[in-house]
Amino acid sequence: MIITTNPYTQKKIHQYSFLTDDELHLKLNATQESYKNWRNISFKEKEQLGLKLKELMLNRKEALANLISIEMGKPITQCLAEVIKTSTLVDYFTQNTTAFLENQTLDENTYVSYHPTGAVFGIMPWNFPLWQVFRYAFPNIMAGNVCLLKHAPNVTGCAVAIQQLFEDAGYPKHVFTNLIIDIPQVEQVIAHPIVQGVCLTGSTKAGSSVAALAGKHLKKSVLELGGTDASIIMEDADFDTALTSAFDSRTANSGQVCIAAKRIFVPKNKLEYAISFFKQKIANLKHGNPLEKSTQIGPISKAEFLPILQNQVEETIKNGAKLMVGGKINNPFYETTLLIVNKDNPMLKEEIFGPVICVIPYENADTLIDEINNSDYGLGTAIWTTNIEKAKILATKIEAGYVSINFKVTSDPKFPFGGIKKSGYGKELGEHGLKTFLNAKTNTIA
Ligand code: NDP
Repeated sequence: MIITTNPYTQKKIHQYSFLTDDELHLKLNATQESYKNWRNISFKEKEQLGLKLKELMLNRKEALANLISIEMGKPITQCLAEVIKTSTLVDYFTQNTTAFLENQTLDENTYVSYHPTGAVFGIMPWNFPLWQVFRYAFPNIMAGNVCLLKHAPNVTGCAVAIQQLFEDAGYPKHVFTNLIIDIPQVEQVIAHPIVQGVCLTGSTKAGSSVAALAGKHLKKSVLELGGTDASIIMEDADFDTALTSAFDSRTANSGQVCIAAKRIFVPKNKLEYAISFFKQKIANLKHGNPLEKSTQIGPISKAEFLPILQNQVEETIKNGAKLMVGGKINNPFYETTLLIVNKDNPMLKEEIFGPVICVIPYENADTLIDEINNSDYGLGTAIWTTNIEKAKILATKIEAGYVSINFKVTSDPKFPFGGIKKSGYGKELGEHGLKTFLNAKTNTIA
């Protein structure tokens, strides 16, 4: 049984029963039947459904944003932005999938053609409950695959609403299927013959166990895991723009973002400036009811994360960091916290999933690359400088799936997204991501 709870009011929202194993297998078998039809639907028909889905999503944007906010506590203006961004993803793959999947000529006798393979099973987290689901599901559905979802339990209402969106837009049943299941049932889904791929977004621990199951059953997997992204501000950067971007990146979604600027490197001689800049920004931040438009920081999404955050901040301080602002639980919030962190602090290697700003002063830009890469993760990095050529050289040495110069690390439907090292493997989005769970078939004619 799942009970969803509003993290701000801490009141129960709804309860849901897990599927029994028999009910689960009925859904998996129905998905198998649905795939036989869906894989042969024309691109034209899929484009029409995609347009309808986008229209419906925008018509329901207020209700969807409200649901996200109530279930996981994100400030409502950010929830609305998530819905609108998701609609641009639907639009992008509706407009471009046909062209991306045209046959590719390799030589005069040989071409590659792209074909769906079956169902892609998504195991998704709660921090972007709409965006992350569409990120794996919609491109696959456009390409002729069908999708199954096990969402994070605290956003089960969002999962139900997503399946409803597909059905109301006119998609045949079981092209997208939400499964309300418990962790021990995950293997049954992965093992089913209709499932040909597994996508997980979440923690490294969850990624590792799902990848092991996928390997055991010989299913391809894509993992989008955590990060300790660096934001590097060079001496010659436009300082206020860089600090504002790093601050917004670190405080968006109350700090619960995989690609947040979790390690902000500033030149030692600019440290004081950066600290007073951030102090001012924090003083102006409005923590509060996530349903109010003026709220910028909401509650931490799951109550059990509060003591974990507290412990991580305390450990960072014990290992040499200086606390400048915050550092305490203010249930259900975690105070927006500012720390000056020593470069050898072991906690810099941990993902801190909350509004904790870590500023790391550096003396020598030439040795910075070792500090940036001194992380088990490799999701994204932002570089701030006016010397673009130098930044491009630095970018080649950074161990990450994404480098942005003078812009915050962000995801975009057009560009492949995914990390390296303990941030996972494989890509979603863009043409690369679209083709991950397709069969690239070589055709040779003698
Ligand atoms: P989890 O990784 O535990 O949860 C993400 C999803 O994976 C949920 O649907 C969860 O389901 C599922 N899951 C967890 N363990 C397994 C498993 N063994 N087999 C199959 N599915 C599994 O994240 P948490 O919500 O517990 O957050 C913990 C930490 O993970 C955060 O503090 C943050 O550091 C990181 N995280 C990173 C995210 C990102 O965007 N990269 C997103 C969310 C978290 P269930 O809840 O039922 O276990």
